[in-house]
Amino acid sequence: MKTIGMLGGMSWESTASYYKAINEGVKKALGGLHSAKICLYSVDFDEIETLQHQGRWDETAKILAKAAHAVEAGGADFLLICTNTMHKVAPDIEAAVAIPLLHIADATAEQLIGDKVKRVGLLGTKFTMEQDFYKARLTDKFGINVIVPAAEQRQVVHDIIYSELCLGKVTEQSRVKYLEIIEHLYEQGAEAVILGCTEIALLIEQEHTKVRLYDTTEIHAEQAVKAAISE
Ligand code: GLU
Repeated sequence: MKTIGMLGGMSWESTASYYKAINEGVKKALGGLHSAKICLYSVDFDEIETLQHQGRWDETAKILAKAAHAVEAGGADFLLICTNTMHKVAPDIEAAVAIPLLHIADATAEQLIGDKVKRVGLLGTKFTMEQDFYKARLTDKFGINVIVPAAEQRQVVHDIIYSELCLGKVTEQSRVKYLEIIEHLYEQGAEAVILGCTEIALLIEQEHTKVRLYDTTEIHAEQAVKAAISE
């Protein structure tokens, strides 16, 4: 079995979901007492979040490149960045190590294509919903049409991520707001919605809506398990 390298702590609430999903996946595939070989580097999210909101992405890239190095030195065979947003600096991280990166948007796009979804709604941080590192990858590399909520709704989605979900706070009030936004994306023609932030599944589950959801944490973890147990 290969060793999975994880850059986590962004936030640790979702890294815990990854850790559980990956171990459950390995257990399901191999049975018995099997568990995943993982080398995890967990950062202090306060440092990352401050730099993000100041637009100092180069500095976040340096922190994560150093973490990736440590994970590689620790024996990881491939790398996961356990957050959608920080894939903004994925090229810098990839350049810092020799091991391959399993990109979260690619993993998600492959599932969408497998399910023949051509037009999809995207929820995530404002960085993910507004900038090109994620949306353009889905469109240019995979031909998937991406729609995002209106500006006011993007702000709501973003604020709930940083001021609640990344702190482990899950409220019914925020769930209702998210469900309204998901419904609106559906009315605009989204065949499905990407939960493009690794904490959103703490708030919204498939049972809450008829709109098909693609949880990036689950998808990324599943791909990592597949890669880890493949020859
Ligand atoms: N985990 C979130 C994501 O998937 C947001 C936290 C971050 O800014 O990294 O985008």
